[in-house]
Amino acid sequence: MAENEKYRKYWNAQIETMERDVLEELQLSLLKSEVRFAYDNAPYYKRSFDKAGVSPDDIKSLSDLARLPFINKHTERETQGVGSFLGELAAVPEEDVVFVSTSSGSTGVPTMSPFTRGDFDKFTDTVSRMFWQAGMRPSDRYLHALNFSLYIGGPDVLGAQNLGALSIWGGTLPSDRLLFVIQTYKPGFIYTSPSYAWYLGETALKKGIDPKSLSIRKIFTGGEPGASIEATRETIEKLWGAELYDFYGLSDIFGPCAAMCEQHDGLHLAEDQILVETVDPATGERIPDGEQGELVFTTLQKRARPMIRFRSGDIGRFVKEPCACGRTHGRIYIHGRKDDMFIVSAVNVFPSDVEAVLHGVGGLTSEYRIHVYDENYTSKYAVEVEKIEDESDESVAERVEKALRARIGVRPAKVTVLKAGELDTRSEHKAKRLIDDRKGH
Ligand SMILES: [Zn+2]
Repeated sequence: MAENEKYRKYWNAQIETMERDVLEELQLSLLKSEVRFAYDNAPYYKRSFDKAGVSPDDIKSLSDLARLPFINKHTERETQGVGSFLGELAAVPEEDVVFVSTSSGSTGVPTMSPFTRGDFDKFTDTVSRMFWQAGMRPSDRYLHALNFSLYIGGPDVLGAQNLGALSIWGGTLPSDRLLFVIQTYKPGFIYTSPSYAWYLGETALKKGIDPKSLSIRKIFTGGEPGASIEATRETIEKLWGAELYDFYGLSDIFGPCAAMCEQHDGLHLAEDQILVETVDPATGERIPDGEQGELVFTTLQKRARPMIRFRSGDIGRFVKEPCACGRTHGRIYIHGRKDDMFIVSAVNVFPSDVEAVLHGVGGLTSEYRIHVYDENYTSKYAVEVEKIEDESDESVAERVEKALRARIGVRPAKVTVLKAGELDTRSEHKAKRLIDDRKGH
């Protein structure tokens, strides 16, 4: 586009187009200092490295990273609040922390991801880089339609602003209002979840507005895998007459860690900020780049809470070959979640979360069944429970729904209340408490 030609091609050409060997040299030097910093300042790392008999001095090459122990969501939860407010994974005093985002963990207990001022500035710059590689320029208008509350997607708007785009802080406006904003301010770019992009487009159609006639040219999506699923992407692109760009983020690590460039072929990982390894999801053994496995991430510059070998639970592959866009940072392709996790309205839910909540609701037997299914490009879940006491079904359902909403963050689509013994989970060889009707499951 002629409009874009007056701008440079890359947000940071030096970093983004670095030769692979130079990039790996940079990664090694950053890794050494990150591991040293973590060991010297975060009580958890000192203890776990000592226990494993490894020291920061053992890191002499990138492959030596495999000598260090893994951490996971469980580690975050276990160490949070231990010894100090930020817990044992944190490597700086609380006074150095300027921001925390939270994410729901596998028991529904939110985990906090702290940022120092320096971490936050790097995060913002990385988001700018990702928007730039998707074609956003200072002459563009950007509508941020992601939740601001506690969620790491909220401050992504600062990345657009830092890039120089005119940024509209939409948040979670009701769809009528959001459509009005689009019609009035005519943004070319919007960031939302794939299911909401679909919903908003459908809502426009119902109101007699063709989304294709609106100003949106590019849609960034995150929080759900939709934009990397070909069929979903095509449907939304057709509906809006716009291009979809998938963003991959983990609040545990950094917010957006990887995003699509204009080639739409995988998501460029910010390799100067984050190191990725692929491991066998069952054994944790390293497997070669390019092969499918569980992705394990290590922060290279994060100070507030360094994350060393964080097992993401995401299954995908990492490809190092340079992209047609000229960027040398490798690309990840996410395939799905390791566990039976399902995502409802961009909230990660594990069957064990539901179980934990149900077991805390009085008046129920321990039997339950979860039904997960796809509807309108997002997952929904319904639960069946058994009541013990002589209480109305409505009242039981209401208590269950309330508890699930409070603890997990998203309500079930339906709660079915049965009498004790009516659920047939017991009659089977192995209790089947999860019925997964999602595509690809
Ligand atoms: Zn590219």
